[in-house]
Amino acid sequence: MKLASITYRRQQRVGIILGSGSCLLLDPEIHGIPSRIEAYLSSEQAQVALAELEANGFEGAVEVGLDKVHLNPPLKDINKVICIGKNYADHAREMGGEPPEIPVVFSMFPSAIIGSGDNIVLPAISNQVDYEAELVVVIGKSGRHIPRERAMDHVFGYCCGNDISARDWQKGKPGGQWLLGKTFDTFAPLGPFLVTKDEVKDPHQLNVCCRLNGEVVQSSNTSSLIFQIDFLISHLSQFMTLAPGDLIFTGTPPGVGAGRKPPVFLKSGDTVEVEIESVGVLTNPIVAEV
Ligand code: MG
Repeated sequence: MKLASITYRRQQRVGIILGSGSCLLLDPEIHGIPSRIEAYLSSEQAQVALAELEANGFEGAVEVGLDKVHLNPPLKDINKVICIGKNYADHAREMGGEPPEIPVVFSMFPSAIIGSGDNIVLPAISNQVDYEAELVVVIGKSGRHIPRERAMDHVFGYCCGNDISARDWQKGKPGGQWLLGKTFDTFAPLGPFLVTKDEVKDPHQLNVCCRLNGEVVQSSNTSSLIFQIDFLISHLSQFMTLAPGDLIFTGTPPGVGAGRKPPVFLKSGDTVEVEIESVGVLTNPIVAEV
């Protein structure tokens, strides 16, 4: 299933995306599905209710065209946004480093998350804002010290993500860490939906593409990930409890603006798209801060 966080007539609903450019709206009172995906992920009862509803052909759910609704980010009110740096060898090299031997891990705050169609706002205090197309893993089951062979049981699904990065704050300013350059408001586009893992045959065989104003600037495949998803989940869970809704941005392939000669940074009026096979297309316009 493709789950979406939808606002329709000022009401928040979980929606099921249909192939026909429409969605089914699930009503908490009629269907027993909470109005937010965050609550759904942490409710076994709701998950059973949705499975039953699906088996019954979503009887009673209202179908609405996607042009009539607002798509919110699938998840926002969550515990953790964990990001993996330099997880494609050629990207590590274009940024002037070598592929890491253990994962490079940093974080963003959930306040940076926006949905597909929402504006990425260029901060007035940066002039080196860059794109990074990434497959995002959504955790569905809590766990600590998760063995690698059971790690995929903890995955709920996948989204497209864009790890927007102010390179001048990520690398050039004091601090020696990446947080500020990565977590400006609007710097974590996520969506357009949350695709459940049963719809993704092999998450390590997905084409990942980024387009800037329609031109392909990143084109790779998750088969090139240095650290695979099961390894990352097991590794991260040695440090922290992974909770339902937690996001893992798995890293970006080569082709980012900072690695180009001359460098290319985002400017007002641009549109950036992240497309991941079986997961969707995440589209965001760029605007200047006012
Ligand atoms: Mg990244």
